Amino acid sequence: MTQPIFLVGPRGCGKTTVGLELARVSQSQFVDTDHWLQTEAGETIAQLVEKEGWARFRARETATLMAVTAPGTVIATGGGIVLAEQNRSFMREKGTVIYLCAPVSTLVARLEASPEEGQRPTLTGKPVSEEVSEILAERDALYREAAHHVVNASQAPEEVVNQIVTALRLACV
Ligand code: ADP
Ligand code: MG
Repeated sequence: MTQPIFLVGPRGCGKTTVGLELARVSQSQFVDTDHWLQTEAGETIAQLVEKEGWARFRARETATLMAVTAPGTVIATGGGIVLAEQNRSFMREKGTVIYLCAPVSTLVARLEASPEEGQRPTLTGKPVSEEVSEILAERDALYREAAHHVVNASQAPEEVVNQIVTALRLACV
């Protein structure tokens, strides 16, 4: 694999989980923009948003995306990365973009089991099930617009990785 692979999709679709496994089987580097950004800033996403607001956080996210993009890297992005047209066209031009697509019920079940509030501050102030449904309705078209491939992310992580490996004809160990 030479071009970077960008994983996009809503919170809970498995970008971090699948990205780690994909990097392992394709012997690639792995970067998670949410983790990278939090380490750089020395604060959680929730703290940054509380202090600086979403607009400043989105600017940090774009800078992070540019900084981590490198050949031979699997990049798990933040759920809101597709909101900026600049990020969508950057990812499409620089590499291959995969949308991990899952139904609202699956996303809600995963997020309720593993909320990680520091990394996933509320976007709407509403209960998780309402928020996931609202955000997906708003962003699904953007994920599709950004993506070269759409995969079914409700399967087990290894299966999701298999779909990506097949779609991209990656050489794996
Ligand atoms: P994202 O990075 O897209 O927000 P994560 O990879 O952090 O999503 O996954 C959110 C939660 O869902 C985690 O607890 C993870 O273990 C679980 N999970 C992720 N992908 C799958 C999958 N394909 N099948 C079952 N559980 C999953
Ligand atoms: Mg993640």
